[in-house]
Amino acid sequence: MARFNIAATILALTSLSLNSHAFAPNAFRASTLQQEKSSVAMSVIAPPEKIAGSDRLGLLDTSKSTRAEKGTGIKVPEGQKLRIGIVGAGLAGMVTGMDLSEAGHEIEFFESRDFVGGKVSSWVDKDGNHIEMGLHVFFGCYYNLFGIMRRLGIFEKSLRLKEHTHMFINKGGGVGMLDFRLGGIGAPINGLAAFARTEQLDIVSKISNAIALATSPVVRALVDFDGAMQDIRNLDGISFTDWWFSKGGNRESLNRMWDPIAYALGFIDCDNISARCMLTIFNLFAVRSEASVLRMCEGSPNTYLHEPIVEYLKERGASFNLGTRIQDIVHEVDEEGKPNKVKVSINSYGLYFILINLTKIQIH
Ligand SMILES: Cc1cc2nc3c(=O)[nH]c(=O)nc-3n(C[C@H](O)[C@H](O)[C@H](O)COP(=O)(O)OP(=O)(O)OC[C@H]3O[C@@H](n4cnc5c(N)ncnc54)[C@H](O)[C@@H]3O)c2cc1C
Repeated sequence: MARFNIAATILALTSLSLNSHAFAPNAFRASTLQQEKSSVAMSVIAPPEKIAGSDRLGLLDTSKSTRAEKGTGIKVPEGQKLRIGIVGAGLAGMVTGMDLSEAGHEIEFFESRDFVGGKVSSWVDKDGNHIEMGLHVFFGCYYNLFGIMRRLGIFEKSLRLKEHTHMFINKGGGVGMLDFRLGGIGAPINGLAAFARTEQLDIVSKISNAIALATSPVVRALVDFDGAMQDIRNLDGISFTDWWFSKGGNRESLNRMWDPIAYALGFIDCDNISARCMLTIFNLFAVRSEASVLRMCEGSPNTYLHEPIVEYLKERGASFNLGTRIQDIVHEVDEEGKPNKVKVSINSYGLYFILINLTKIQIH
């Protein structure tokens, strides 16, 4: 039997803004599993289509939401249905399962925790309290997730729209604000106004911010969103702090404004977060007014997000093995070299990927 390299096989989704339809093949691209073993997987999932629709300025593709809402539209003929194992019932795994089960495949989840939802999950303690993994904020540019929620019929009732402001609570209780409300005027003007008016920065810092942002790739995004995104991807190797200082930014701005934002995005400060991570979201803020609008769940993510997903999956025949941590996966191949029999060992350390086109899954 061949052995998949578990440690090197991570299907990572770094934010809730998941591209539910494209991410399975894309994520596989990064994995050892895909490169070496899963030509079958690539052949059974249609490649992500080039989505033609875009927003009114043609800068940013917003038709992903419709795509996520409507699904792939693929229905597999009876003889071509696959038995698919998905390791990890986090949001990415479950949304993948939604499209695959909708297409007619037989889905089986293996989830190490006793509950679904991964990092955005919640559970009920013995006193009936809903305990969340952490507070979750939904940016207005989570087009894919919102599309998925519309498909489930929960977008309106599960998310609560907040005022179009971002608050900073300072040591000692002082409050600063980025106020994006500008009488209906949208991005990027409302964002510039928010920075110009904020109490969070003094005048010297505002000037330093203006210079740094005016010479950043975000400006290019106003006319060429994809080009700006490529510039930003190229900044993955340096920290936001290094990039910020290279643009003439000052430490005071990092302390007062950018560190809190970095912590909110990635639980680390500007010295450690990549410039790519920070600039990606600013890029979206610059071209789409709704990107900086925040929503929060009406209540616990399990009630308002996961239960409807699980119901959708179960209606389509999916099954769940909770409390089932996968330790190892070995497989046999058919005469064409494609995996046809997989043995899943349960225990210890983590992995996250999808097994596709299996005629047999054995659990040990
Ligand atoms: C405290 C906190 C706050 C956050 N706040 C926000 C926010 O405000 N906005 C935002 O956009 N994002 C936020 N995030 C990030 C967001 O929660 C994640 O990006 C998202 O939930 C990741 O989903 P995922 O499905 O890719 O991965 P995960 O949620 O990590 O799912 C992976 C699943 O795989 C399972 N698994 C792993 N190994 C195995 C194994 N060997 N066998 C079986 N199962 C296995 C895990 O138990 C888990 O359920 C936050 C995250 C945290 C922790």
